[in-house]
Amino acid sequence: MQAHTKAPRRRVLLLATGGTIAGAGPAAAGTGSAAYDSAVVPVQQLLAQVPGLDALAHVAAEQLLQIDSVDFIDALLLQLARRVAGACRQSEVDGVVVLHGTDTLQETAFFLHLTLPTDKPVVLTGAMRAGTALSADGPANVADAVALAAHPDSAGRGVLVTLGGEIFSGRDVAKTRAQGPAAFSSPHGSLGWMADGAPRWYRRVDRPHTLHSEFNIETMDALPLVGVVTSHGNMRTEVFDAWVAAGARAIVFAAFGGGTVPSYLLPELADVSARGVVLVRASRTGCGLVLRNATADDAHGWVAAADHGPTQARLLAALALTRSADPLHVQAVFDRY
Ligand code: GLU
Repeated sequence: MQAHTKAPRRRVLLLATGGTIAGAGPAAAGTGSAAYDSAVVPVQQLLAQVPGLDALAHVAAEQLLQIDSVDFIDALLLQLARRVAGACRQSEVDGVVVLHGTDTLQETAFFLHLTLPTDKPVVLTGAMRAGTALSADGPANVADAVALAAHPDSAGRGVLVTLGGEIFSGRDVAKTRAQGPAAFSSPHGSLGWMADGAPRWYRRVDRPHTLHSEFNIETMDALPLVGVVTSHGNMRTEVFDAWVAAGARAIVFAAFGGGTVPSYLLPELADVSARGVVLVRASRTGCGLVLRNATADDAHGWVAAADHGPTQARLLAALALTRSADPLHVQAVFDRY
């Protein structure tokens, strides 16, 4: 007879921050109702609604925050990132799950992806339906996230996001629908799928992250202020002036198409650069590249955001500015990550 030694159960720390996954409303509200309160259900109560969780991993839970994720100001983002980094340093933690509101989940995932000095699995999830709705998606998403964070093959892939059975990279995932459980996507597709409690991988992110990123939450006190201005017909220059007056060190312009700037804004945006504020051209379209000197002349000291959407570009510009405000340095960071 052959002796089988069972692998020890993996240990996952689950950090709850609020969101719809911790939401509750009238029991008869149905799947699509917006009539619920976000961030009200304590994490232990949430976990009690996930059958079989114990079989997936040994889960320790902590209620770090209890907020609607639209209230994630940078100070809270840094607080969360420090807590996750601290957990990853502990030898008794094999992986971390963060429960997060879906509205700003993409910002947090992107920031953690670039600033956590670890190769342990870190997985974010949330829910599009409150726990009291019919077909609530939270419990299955929690089970998938725990199984993903506990899986040894999840290590070294950067920060992961799973919702609706799909696995995305924190680098480029985005909430692209306001309703329904399949609300997340990436212009580059997903990395894989959860099947029978384990990940099936199909892609890997080619850009540096976590241990190979030059940014580290453990050496970061605050983020420089960066604003985003979205393009539309009949724009005004005052909105850019307002960000400069507020002390922004960079402004991301979610420009038209491939980063095109209206002719009537050119003098204003050149002036923004002349005042020492880095102007980053991104696209409002949600997919595709903004390339340097392609749809506009970046000799003004502008930066082209490549495939990064405006929300990611805000954070990447802020990270780049923690090192240098030289637009060529900021451009190099956008080209690298
Ligand atoms: N605005 C809420 C939040 O992001 C609800 C959205 C959600 O969690 O799905 O926390």
